[in-house]
Amino acid sequence: MHPNSSRERSRILELEKMARALDPDATERDRLMRAAHGYAQRLLTELPERPAYNHDKSAAAELRQPQADDGPQPIGQLIERFDESVVRPGLLPSHAGHLAYIPGGGLYASSLADYLAAVTNEYAGVRFVGPGSVEMEDLVLDWMAGVVGFPASADGNLASGGSIASLTAIVAAREAAGLRARDFDRAVVYATPHIHQCLPKAIRVAGMGETARRDIAVDENLRLCPRSLSELVAADRAQGLLPWLVLGSAGTADTGAIDPLDRIADIAERERLWFHVDAAYGGFFTLLPEFRPALAGMERADSIVLDPHKSMFLPYGTGAVLVRNRDALQDAHAYYASYLQDTVESEGGGRSPAAVSPELTKHFRALRVWLPLLLHGEEPFRACLREKLELARYFHREIGKLGFEVGPEPDLTVVTFRWVPDSGSANAFNQALVEETHRDGRVFMSSTTVDGRFMLRMAALAFRTHLDTIDLALEVLRQALERLGVHPEGRRPTAAAGGRSR
Ligand SMILES: *Cc1c(COP(=O)(O)O)cnc(C)c1O
Repeated sequence: MHPNSSRERSRILELEKMARALDPDATERDRLMRAAHGYAQRLLTELPERPAYNHDKSAAAELRQPQADDGPQPIGQLIERFDESVVRPGLLPSHAGHLAYIPGGGLYASSLADYLAAVTNEYAGVRFVGPGSVEMEDLVLDWMAGVVGFPASADGNLASGGSIASLTAIVAAREAAGLRARDFDRAVVYATPHIHQCLPKAIRVAGMGETARRDIAVDENLRLCPRSLSELVAADRAQGLLPWLVLGSAGTADTGAIDPLDRIADIAERERLWFHVDAAYGGFFTLLPEFRPALAGMERADSIVLDPHKSMFLPYGTGAVLVRNRDALQDAHAYYASYLQDTVESEGGGRSPAAVSPELTKHFRALRVWLPLLLHGEEPFRACLREKLELARYFHREIGKLGFEVGPEPDLTVVTFRWVPDSGSANAFNQALVEETHRDGRVFMSSTTVDGRFMLRMAALAFRTHLDTIDLALEVLRQALERLGVHPEGRRPTAAAGGRSR
């Protein structure tokens, strides 16, 4: 042995002893797990008593103590800090009363899937090392392709959310059209002003900020007007521009409006445009046979984005992109690195997720989709979506009875409404009204501006939102009006279960 060897070995073993703190033994694992599980049980049990929204956000700043270099801290105290500083301030997205924006979910089965994904640390980027995790992602994507009516030859990818899924699709659209930097200022994108901001953002991130964007007119229900699209494309062709991409919405985030996807598909086909459908909100409603006519034409898209962390009720962190032409997706994203040379597939192995997305290493997302789907089966998902459609229609009717001015009958599960005061600015009044509901906090609604009018918004999509939540929302609005000095004439809502007070 080299004279220095034994000192070297004991130094390494000393380090090993310290490093092993990162790898708790079975007893310690059990203790840690009990602490986490105990907290989760307590939170989920307490949810109905907690506010959906807590105006007081000061506790978030207390996260600064303790710091990582203060040494190890007891798990109980850390979970307590997490609860005080993270879970309590602001919105509680797992709450039934999350009725704002496009609510997300938080299926319990997915939380277990995430736990197992992290414990095993399965690699989901490359098929050679993660054949099962990649197969599972393919399976989940095949299921989604079937749901939206895409052919089996389509390809796709599970991303972190709708925004990155959209970026993946936009880059495929760019490559499929063969557009190069010198073409960008002649390429044209068509969308209504209600398209989600993640799409213009994706176009800019894809380096195509110079492309022209045409605002397609909308009808009185804020749906894309096909004739306006045809006219804009014709005018651009006459000018020698390159009509490239048309964006349709299967449910806008603003109001849930569904564009006439079949008519757009006709125009896209005729004009050889890439047709992208943003179905982040509405796509999974095709699980309902009775809803399919409303989304007809989605299956003719070139690319579709879905958000399982919205309408499949998953916890945040999963979006999906589907692309009809699998070559387009691979041409845009496949790369080669010599350090990964042994991962290159032999004949028939199939492509890896890394070849169809900007990501290489990624969270093993398929498990959090697969586990709840197989554990519960499809039927409860259908019932949950159907329930939300009915709740939105119920709310739309009841809010009208209370005397609110209501937006159009909802295509999906978003209802817009406002109170028109007898005098003074309606916009200022409704802003005060939404703030009043935020101070109340039992439910959390948001607002938007449509044609210069400040509107409140109620979005029913959280899986825990049921009839009692909607009755409570009506009650919260009625009480907020009263605090602003207005006594709604309309019939009181039949709030049998809705009177839960703080
Ligand atoms: C949420 C949403 C997006 C963006 O998806 P993220 O998952 O938030 O990145 C895009 N379009 C619509 C219609 C959405 O509702």
